[in-house]
Amino acid sequence: MDTPPSFAAERLSTESHLPFLATSVESSQDAVITKSIYGTILSWNPAAERIFGYSAIEAIGRPISMIVPPDRATEEPEILSRIRRGEKLEHFETSRLRKDGRRIVVSLTISPVRDGTGQIVGASKIARDVTQQKTNERAMQLERERLHVMLASIGDGVIVTDLWGCVEFLNPVAEALTGWKQADATGKPLDSVFNIINENTRCRVESPVTRAMREGAPVGLANHTILVAQDGTEVAIDDSAAPIRDPQGNVSGVILVFRDVSGQRAVEAVRARLSAIVESSDDAIIGKDLEGRITSWNRGAEKIFGYTPLEAIGRPITMLIPPERLAEEPEIMARLRRGQRVEHFETVRIAKDRRKVDVSVSISPILDSYGAVVGASKIARDITDRKRSERELEHTNARLKQHADELELHVAERTAVLRESLAELETFSSSLSHDLKAPLRAIAFHTQTICEDYGEQLPAEIREKLQRIMSSCVRLTRFIDNVLTYARVRTGALPLTRVSLDTLVPVVLHDHPHIAEKHAEVSVEPPLLPVLGHEGLLTQVISNLVSNGVKFVKSGIRPKLRIWTERLDDRVRFCVDDNGIGIAVADHQKIFRLFTRLGGSDSYDGSGVGLAVVQRAVWRMGGTVGVESEKGRGSRFWFELPAATPPPPELLEHGERQPHIIDGALRTGSVVLPAVRDRIGGVGQTRPGV
Ligand code: ADP
Repeated sequence: MDTPPSFAAERLSTESHLPFLATSVESSQDAVITKSIYGTILSWNPAAERIFGYSAIEAIGRPISMIVPPDRATEEPEILSRIRRGEKLEHFETSRLRKDGRRIVVSLTISPVRDGTGQIVGASKIARDVTQQKTNERAMQLERERLHVMLASIGDGVIVTDLWGCVEFLNPVAEALTGWKQADATGKPLDSVFNIINENTRCRVESPVTRAMREGAPVGLANHTILVAQDGTEVAIDDSAAPIRDPQGNVSGVILVFRDVSGQRAVEAVRARLSAIVESSDDAIIGKDLEGRITSWNRGAEKIFGYTPLEAIGRPITMLIPPERLAEEPEIMARLRRGQRVEHFETVRIAKDRRKVDVSVSISPILDSYGAVVGASKIARDITDRKRSERELEHTNARLKQHADELELHVAERTAVLRESLAELETFSSSLSHDLKAPLRAIAFHTQTICEDYGEQLPAEIREKLQRIMSSCVRLTRFIDNVLTYARVRTGALPLTRVSLDTLVPVVLHDHPHIAEKHAEVSVEPPLLPVLGHEGLLTQVISNLVSNGVKFVKSGIRPKLRIWTERLDDRVRFCVDDNGIGIAVADHQKIFRLFTRLGGSDSYDGSGVGLAVVQRAVWRMGGTVGVESEKGRGSRFWFELPAATPPPPELLEHGERQPHIIDGALRTGSVVLPAVRDRIGGVGQTRPGV
C-alpha cells in the first residue's frame, strides 16, 4: 500500500473536486462523510454529527475506523480496497459505534471520488441511521412469528387470505379439516380450498370471505354448514370470518376461523331426540329437585294429571299425592338420596280434577357431573284401565272358581253314579258271561251226548237238527265272547310297550282256527317292524283281521292272505291283504260300527263286532285304522302305530337277521326270524293246509 499523504493535501485534493456538495450536504438527513482512500475522515456533515455523536471538529482528520465496532474491523479495509478498484457499494447494512459507545444500524452507500484526471482520491459515504427502522422491522417480524405460532397452535382451523381472497396461510387444523397442505393451498382462491355446503340443501354456501369483505365486519356462518374436504370427507363446521385491517384501517385480508362440530351436532341431535321422546311419551315424565319441587313436566304428565307445565313447574310434587299416601314421599326421597332407584311402584295419585289415578311409578336419581344426587326423574304410567281390568278379572276368576267348584262337585256326583253303573255293568257282563254261557254249554253238552249216545238210532232229519243246535251254540258262545271283549276294551290310559310283531304274528297265526279250517294260504313278509302297543290288544286286532280275511272269500276259492309292515316316518303300518269279496267304497266307514254286517254277509258266520273291536283297540293304543277295498277285488285292512325303534338298516337291506334279543323288561325270551320262517313255511311261501 502507498504511504498516505498529509491530511491537508488529501483534503485539498478532494474538496477542490466537491464544491457543489456544500449546501445539500449540510441540509441532508443522512450522514454525508468523505474520506480519503486511506480511510481518513475529510468531511462530516451535521447529520453525521447527530448520528454518530462526534462533532465535525472531533471527526475530521481522524480515521473512519473510529466508528467501526471491533467485531467489524475487517469491513473497512475491504470497503476501501473496493473503492480503490472503483466499485460502488449500495445500501450496505452494517453497524457502527457512536461516540457514546451505543451501536447503531446504518445503511451505507459508498462511492469513489475521482479527481479531474479520473483518479480515485477518496470516497463519499452516505450513512442512514436505520436503527429504528430495523428495530421496528424486527419487532414486526417477531410479532408475525408469534402470530404464526399462535395460529398454528390454535385448536380451531384458521385460514388467512389476502385482499383478493387467495389463501395465504393455513394452520395444521385447517390442513387436517380441508385436506389441503399449506404449500398447495397458498395462492389458491379460498373457494377451492374451503368448500362449504348447506347440510340440508347441499347447495354451496357463499364464501365467508366475500361476505366479510363486503360487510367490512366479522361474519358467522349459517348453521348446518358442512365442509367438504379435498377427499370428499364431510365435516359439520361452525365458523366465522373477520376482515384484517392494516394500521391505517384498510382491509388487507380476511381471517377465517372454523371448527369441527360433528360431535356437538351429534350430541344436540341426541338431545333433541330425547326431548322429543320425553314430549311424545304417553307416560308422565316429571323432574323434581331434592326439596320435592317439580322442575320439568312433559305432555304425558299434563294428559294424566291435567296440570299444564306452567301450573306444575315449581310446585311441590305432593300436590299429586293423596293425603293418606303422603308418607310415601319422604320414603322415596330417602331412597333417592342414597342413589337408589324405585321401580314399578304401584300407587295412587290425584289429578287436577281430584280424580284418583292408579299409576305405576319408576323413579331414578338425577346426578350432577360429580355424581351427587341433585334431583329425581319420575316416570308415571297411568294403569287405571289395567287396574280396572285386574279387578274385573279377579271378580270373573272368583265367579269362575265358584262355577268350577260347583262343576267339580257335579262331576264327582256323576262320576260316582257312573262308577256305580260301571260296576253294575261289569257284574252284568260277568253274570252274562256266566249265566248265558253256562246254559249254552249245557245245551251243547247234552246235544252232543244225545248225538253220541243215540246218534245211530235217530232219523237223519233229527240228527241234522241236533247238529244245527250245536253249531248255534258255538256261534252264540263266540258272539258273547266278542261282545265281552268289546266291552273290556275301555278307553283311558294304557301302558304301551315295544311289541315285536315278528314274534307275535306267527303265534297268532299258529293258534288261529280259521286258517286251517279254510285251507288258507298266508304269506308273511319280514321284517315285521316292532311297534309301541299292547300285546293283548294287538293279538285281538290281528286275529280279527286274519279271521275276516280268510272268511269273506267266495266259496270255492282258496283264501290267500299277505301280511307285511311298512315304515311311515315315526309310525309303522301293518297291512293284511286278502283275495276276498271286497267292500264297496261307500261301506268303508260303516263296517267299523258295532253290529254292522254288510248285505251279503249272511252266508258268512259273524256278529258285526270284530271290526268295532279292532278300531276301538287301535285307537286305545293311539293308532289309526283303515281299509282299502272295492267290491269283488279283495281288501286291504291296515292299522298304524308308533314305531318302537328305528329299523336297523341291515334288516332292511339284507333281509337276513341275526338273533335279536327283545327287551327283557317288556317280554322275556328272544325270537329269531328263521325259527318263525320254519313255523309258517318261509318268507313269501304259502303254508298249505295250516
Ligand atoms: P263280522 O265279521 O262278525 O261280520 P266284523 O265287524 O268283523 O263283523 O265285520 C263287519 C262287516 O264288514 C262284515 O260283516 C263284512 O260285511 C265286512 N267285512 C269285514 N272284513 C271283510 C273282508 N276282509 N272282506 C270283505 N268284507 C269284510
